[in-house]
Amino acid sequence: MSYVDEVFELVVAKNPAQPEFHQAVKEVLESLRVVIEANEEAYRKDALLERLCTPERQILFRVPWVDDKGQVQVNNGFRVQFNSAIGPYKGGLRLHPSVNLGIIKFLGFEQIFKNSLTGLPIGGGKGGSDFDPKGKSDREVMAFCQSFINELYRHIGADTDVPAGDIGTGAREIGYMYGQYKRLTGLYEGVLTGKGLTYGGSLARTEATGYGLLYLTEEMLKCNGKDIAGKTVVISGSGNVAIYAAQKAQQLGAKVVTVSDSTGWVYDAEGIDIALLKEVKEVKRARLTEYAAARPSAEYHDGKGVWTVKCDIALPCATQNELNLEDAKALVANGCFAVAEGANMPTTLDATEYLQKNGVLFCPGKAANAGGVATSALEMSQNSERLSWTFEEVDSKLKGIMVNIFHNLDDAAKKYGMAGNYVAGANIAGFLKVAEAMTAQGIV
Ligand code: NDP
Repeated sequence: MSYVDEVFELVVAKNPAQPEFHQAVKEVLESLRVVIEANEEAYRKDALLERLCTPERQILFRVPWVDDKGQVQVNNGFRVQFNSAIGPYKGGLRLHPSVNLGIIKFLGFEQIFKNSLTGLPIGGGKGGSDFDPKGKSDREVMAFCQSFINELYRHIGADTDVPAGDIGTGAREIGYMYGQYKRLTGLYEGVLTGKGLTYGGSLARTEATGYGLLYLTEEMLKCNGKDIAGKTVVISGSGNVAIYAAQKAQQLGAKVVTVSDSTGWVYDAEGIDIALLKEVKEVKRARLTEYAAARPSAEYHDGKGVWTVKCDIALPCATQNELNLEDAKALVANGCFAVAEGANMPTTLDATEYLQKNGVLFCPGKAANAGGVATSALEMSQNSERLSWTFEEVDSKLKGIMVNIFHNLDDAAKKYGMAGNYVAGANIAGFLKVAEAMTAQGIV
């Protein structure tokens, strides 16, 4: 059996009941096959793939907190420090009821390659909890965040592990976590990114993932002889990534006609009104029904449906496995020619294959949404320098990083005979740097 197949079987056997983790490992290993086979003996002797697929450290902990009725609640806390070969662990904290160890491991594993692709010195990690901030009072969210940090603080630090936001963890949660970290350690350091601007945050961090997604998409289209201006775009999600992806898409001259949340979606024939969307989602934290109620050109639909809308470009920006084979077929049938993932692993493996086989330009999340972590790393640099860069400085660095990422994966795909396969290109380019660093550092 080939080394790749052997390791995949081992991962499934050693990590039972973690389907998302298996899926992420399978996607990466499959596309690395040609690279691994070219150097199989050395990698096998060093158990390089076994080490790559096994987190350096997994921290699981109890998070007790008291709700507004005086009732004690208990959540599970996670931090998976996956790989530090090229820098301190870096990756977000997800707060969502669906969080479990397998989800955090899939995200942490993906983060290794994403962080490597940015060209910045950051390793891979991820964390979070099955706590749901939705419907909780500010005091309850603070109580949870403080309890979460009461355990996590001893495992993180500006030069060891620097968590950030993710689903459910926005500026409010990062603020409460940072305050508690500072209280416990007495340190005013860049231990978390996504901080507020008054206490060490970076301008353009809020916009970074969505903007970065569009900078990369624009470059991918340009290199394939297409222009984003005038195109129709469908977007899923209406959180941080979706909102700023929609904003930048419209700034670049495209028309965004959909957004969604976990209960329904909106079709707006005149193009999404970004100011209204922000008011509904960022200020009122309300459902999309309120967007539709305030906008005559918008239709609200319950459930899932954005991928059935006719479009040129699709940007999944909500969550994992939200675009399946049936959705991919609908996109192709409607003439969609480009898909770039704002979320992490939103497209199922069979849907990705279908899109690629049908000539759709497909850029995976580990490259397309790397703008968030790249700007987090820029926040770390500013914190170390004790300086704050202007919005324009950060935004122009972000754009440079995203354009560079696209060319790295495009070049890697071409070099290994898979021109246009950006999934393979991203995995190969991300892997080679990490593998070289791991090999140089010996068996650790
Ligand atoms: P937010 O919490 O701000 O928004 C998430 C959006 O997705 C919301 O509209 C939410 O709807 C929707 N959503 C969440 N879960 C589901 C579900 N199970 N089914 C349908 N819709 C769902 O998160 P972000 O925008 O920050 O993150 C979105 C994705 O992007 C995630 O995959 C994240 O890992 C990834 N990402 C985020 C980065 C960042 O900088 N924020 C960086 C890189 C990747 P509702 O409000 O109803 O829950």
